[in-house]
Amino acid sequence: MIGLLVATLASAQTFDVARLDGDPVPAQVLAGSVESDFASVEGQSIHETGSRPRWWRLTARAPISPAEAPHLVLRFPYLNHVEVWRPGDTMPVRRGLVGHDADFSFSTRALVVPLPQGLATGEAIYIRVHTLTPAPMFVDVEPLAQVHRQDLRHVAMRTFVLGTLSVLALLAVGFWIGIGERSYAYLFLTLAAQALYLASVGGEVRGVPWLADLIGADPRVGRMFGLLGVLASNSFVALYLNLNDHHTRLMRALHVCNAALLLLLLANVGSAANVLGVLASAVFLACAVVTFTASAAGALKRQREAYFMVLSWTPMLVLALLRMGELLGGWRNPEWMEYAFPIGLAMGGLVLTIGLTDHMHQMRRDRDHASRLATYDVLTGALTRSAITERLDALVESAQRGRRPLSVVFFDIDHFKKINDEYGHRVGDQTLRIVSLRTRNRLRTYDLFGRYGGDEVLVVLPDTQLREALCVAENLRAAVNCRPLSIDNRLFTATLSLGVAELHHGESVERLLERADAALYASKETGRDRVTGYTASRLRTTAATPAANTANTHSTSTIY
Ligand code: GH3
Ligand code: MG
Repeated sequence: MIGLLVATLASAQTFDVARLDGDPVPAQVLAGSVESDFASVEGQSIHETGSRPRWWRLTARAPISPAEAPHLVLRFPYLNHVEVWRPGDTMPVRRGLVGHDADFSFSTRALVVPLPQGLATGEAIYIRVHTLTPAPMFVDVEPLAQVHRQDLRHVAMRTFVLGTLSVLALLAVGFWIGIGERSYAYLFLTLAAQALYLASVGGEVRGVPWLADLIGADPRVGRMFGLLGVLASNSFVALYLNLNDHHTRLMRALHVCNAALLLLLLANVGSAANVLGVLASAVFLACAVVTFTASAAGALKRQREAYFMVLSWTPMLVLALLRMGELLGGWRNPEWMEYAFPIGLAMGGLVLTIGLTDHMHQMRRDRDHASRLATYDVLTGALTRSAITERLDALVESAQRGRRPLSVVFFDIDHFKKINDEYGHRVGDQTLRIVSLRTRNRLRTYDLFGRYGGDEVLVVLPDTQLREALCVAENLRAAVNCRPLSIDNRLFTATLSLGVAELHHGESVERLLERADAALYASKETGRDRVTGYTASRLRTTAATPAANTANTHSTSTIY
């Protein structure tokens, strides 16, 4: 860009440029009868904002030799059409990027007219300009070889921009279909409309004959794509930055912009007046300001999405301001601006695609986090109640279907309230952690271990009959009462009461848990620190004296 700027500034002025405010018949102009009505214009560009044809005169400041096949080039003509009279011409050379006057020997960079005789100092070229796109056309003379070189560069640049926008649009539509996220649909519409807008006003549509016939040289089509692009972009911004919740005022401002865009769309259907182009640029500028303000406000609040928006929209805002200044006649922008805008659009689209992907990634991280919280208990790392009951349902169904055994153990810390009351909640929490660590270590990897509530734990033992489950429960009990817990350099004794039940054929999960719970209750009732198993019709309890950790004595059965 800096190179282009330097090149622009360095290029010597070839012509004195003058403009006639009126549209006399060609014979009058060529006869020189309105010569004194031409008014000199600064710089080397033809810039019309009105939609009526106007005459321009280019007078050679120095001789232009025919030796290097000089060509008059009118760069960035967009949809404008020109009629060019070289010295001695009786009929004009007509040129436009699209339509009958298109010259496919050259790229869409410029309208090119050969000057086979060259020009002598003071000789003039007259141009009748039909302006359909109110942007400046830069005027120069280039040898044929240079025209071709510049054309290749132009094609490369435009291919990069249009290719990037198209690929990003395809990616967005792919993500939209794949993920079903609405922001991608808006991003797709924005990028597709921008690509179509650029290809319409930049002339590339002429490469697709049926599209060129459809669009022709009608500025309304390009403008429509531009307006639709801004509408889609506004919807994207509102959704992506969640303006409805975060910035209601800015959301209202965006609604006003959208209403103006819709009005312009309607007006555009009925009229091709250039003033609509200027109005569209003004509304685009307003949208850019609102979007940028929302992005900056979001970034100040450390909203992650807003950073991407600021990055994407800062260049666009600057370019929109520069373009507005030009349209309203304040100044002439350097020629590279004509490339900066499309490149800005493509890069902005890329940043937004990355931003949206980041947004999706963040949402997935949040969802994973929420799902982890819903699945695992934060304090003990055990499964939560909902997670273990959900898995138990599946295991019971599979055990019933495969006629395989399954047992459950309910256990509860004895007099846990007392630990909390005497030593505080922190020690209580630590007790819960140690008890779950010790007991979990006694289980197989495919056994389930879940915190059922408070100090109550449910253990699911697949492929385990009651007899073995009672041994496992004994093991769990011993894991806790075999040695005191050490918390903050103090020793605490803790014991468990346990209830065991084996799944009966055809039994529901609720009934199985009820029986295990009843067994646990029986353990509590009969003195705690013991295991009770629920057989078909009765409860059988094994107990140990808390002091004799290793030598457990088995108590007699208790009838339930
Ligand atoms: P029992 O032998 O009959 O089970 O007596 P208990 O004192 O253990 O009575 P219960 O099981 O009903 O008491 C559960 C207590 O566990 C009540 C509550 O204050 C405490 N508790 C529940 N969740 C937590 C927790 O996450 N941390 C701590 N420190 N205490 C908890
Ligand atoms: Mg308890």
